[in-house]
Amino acid sequence: MIDLRSDTVTKPTQAMLDAMVSAQVGDDVYGDDPSVNALESWAADRHGFETALFCSSGTQANLLALMAHCERGDEYLCGQQAHNYMFEGGGAAVLGSIQPQPIENESDGTLCFKKLKAAIKPDDSHFAKTRLLSLENTINGKVIPLSYLQEARRFADENTLNLHLDGARVYNASIALDIDIKEITQCFDSVSICLSKGLGAPVGSLLLGNQQLINKARRWRKVLGGGMRQAGFLASAGLYALQNNIPRLKEDHANARYLAESLNHLEVFKLNPDFVETNIVFAKVRDDVDQDELVSYLKQNGIIVSKGQPMRFVTHNGISHQDITYLIDHIKQYFTS
Ligand SMILES: *Cc1c(COP(=O)(O)O)cnc(C)c1O
Repeated sequence: MIDLRSDTVTKPTQAMLDAMVSAQVGDDVYGDDPSVNALESWAADRHGFETALFCSSGTQANLLALMAHCERGDEYLCGQQAHNYMFEGGGAAVLGSIQPQPIENESDGTLCFKKLKAAIKPDDSHFAKTRLLSLENTINGKVIPLSYLQEARRFADENTLNLHLDGARVYNASIALDIDIKEITQCFDSVSICLSKGLGAPVGSLLLGNQQLINKARRWRKVLGGGMRQAGFLASAGLYALQNNIPRLKEDHANARYLAESLNHLEVFKLNPDFVETNIVFAKVRDDVDQDELVSYLKQNGIIVSKGQPMRFVTHNGISHQDITYLIDHIKQYFTS
């Protein structure tokens, strides 16, 4: 099957599986798993942080970051479209007693500093305490430039806020910007990174931060049921992913661009291929198209896509240039038959 729903559908390659089965493991709740320890220390060093925490998912890594930065009754500033506001079940409020203060994202995915400034609460018992600014890069496939991130660092310092990055796809950003990952990560007090999307590991995310923050996060991870035992089998897949699977994200970006340009030639889709910077393509579909029928026609031909307005297509290591040609041919066939 050609599955374009998400880059979460990636499966381990044989080389990654080999790394997994030969992993040395121990009980990570005792701190005894050498493969988890190796991943955490390698990742901390690579991204310029004191330490790191291996988490079960990106949702967990973000929640732990919010709960480590904020106390009950604090609030965090984030984008209206932020994953950790929109798509994580309201976890910060539900489990952390932390209030989100969303700000409308600008069309490029950034948050306007004037609007952020206006949303910071004065020190007054009427208000929650504004503690943290949380950004996301990439956001909806868009890359936030380094100059903005550096300005966000200055803004956070001037306003005594901590700064978190939901970097689920931060490697897509560093590849698109053609800069070292550290240039991005060093702007932040904490960063979460998904290992199980474009990087191709089966499970897991990292949270990076200083020792004090990660100690707190580690405690909350146990409370939330995320203390894993012989997790080294998974951690070794994550380390393999970080050490081997990053350069090939370039191919995903090129394939997404090819897909965007091809869709743009079809009359029923509307998009601007120049807006496709990484591995995600959004395309508006003409209103008279029966998407259920289109999706089911494609499925009969071995292609899985999600319906939506716009439709979203995501490229990853299971999608080749030929797969996209095959998809486009079948979309054309559907509309001409
Ligand atoms: C996927 C994603 C997450 C959460 O990851 P899960 O592993 O699915 O919980 C967080 N933030 C962003 C931006 C994501 O794309």
